[in-house]
Amino acid sequence: MMIPELILASRNAHKAHEIAAMLPAWRIRTLADFPDMPEVQETGRSFAENAALKARQVSTRVSGVVLADDSGLCVDALSGMPGILSARYAGEHGNDAANNRKLLNELAVLSGQAPFRAHFACAMCLARDGQAIANFLGCLPGRITLFPRGSNGFGYDPLFVPDGFTCTLAQLSADQKNVISHRAKALEQVVAFLKADGGAAQVRLC
Ligand code: IMP
Repeated sequence: MMIPELILASRNAHKAHEIAAMLPAWRIRTLADFPDMPEVQETGRSFAENAALKARQVSTRVSGVVLADDSGLCVDALSGMPGILSARYAGEHGNDAANNRKLLNELAVLSGQAPFRAHFACAMCLARDGQAIANFLGCLPGRITLFPRGSNGFGYDPLFVPDGFTCTLAQLSADQKNVISHRAKALEQVVAFLKADGGAAQVRLC
C-alpha cells in the first residue's frame, strides 16, 4: 500500500508527536531525519510569515511536501506577547519552565486585570520546491491561570485554561487536546486541502 508522506519542518518533538498522532495514515518525517538541515532564522513578523519561511526554506532541500507549524501564546494584557517569541520568551530557546516563570511574574503585577484573556495561535504552511502552496491558521481561545496545573503537553499548557473548560490544557489527555487545540484546527484544514485534487497532486507516496 502506498502511504502519503509529509516532511515536518520542525525539531520540536512535542509538536511532531501531536501532529503525527493526528495524522495516523501518514508517514511523518521531521528535521531529526535530516541532521544536516541548516537552522531556519525565524525573522518573520507574524506566525504566518515564520511558518512560510520555515516551509519554503526546508522544501528547497528535500523532495516532497513540507509542512511547517509556527505557533505560540498571545496574552491580551501583554499586548499579544509572548506571541512569535513564545519559544524564547525568557531568552533560551525552548526553556518551557523559564518561559512560564517569566509569564507568571509579568502577570502577577497585573493581577487587578484578571481574568487574563489569551489565545494559542498556530499558523501552518505547505511548501514544495521552495514555493509556498497554501497557508492555514488555527486558534484556541481561553485564559491564563496564575496557578499552573497538570503535567501533560508542553510549553505553556499548564497555564492555559481553554474556553469551556475549568482545567488547564496540561490536565487534558493528549487525545482531548488534539480535538480542540489550535494545532488540530490548523491541521484539519491542511488535511482537507491535501485530500482535495490540487493538494493531493503535490503529495509524494512512499
Ligand atoms: P515555534 O517552535 O517557534 O513555533 O514556537 C512554539 C512555542 O510556542 C513553543 O515552544 C511553546 O512555548 C509555545 N506553544 C506552541 N504551541 C503550544 C502548545 O500547544 N502548548 C503549549 N505551548 C505551545
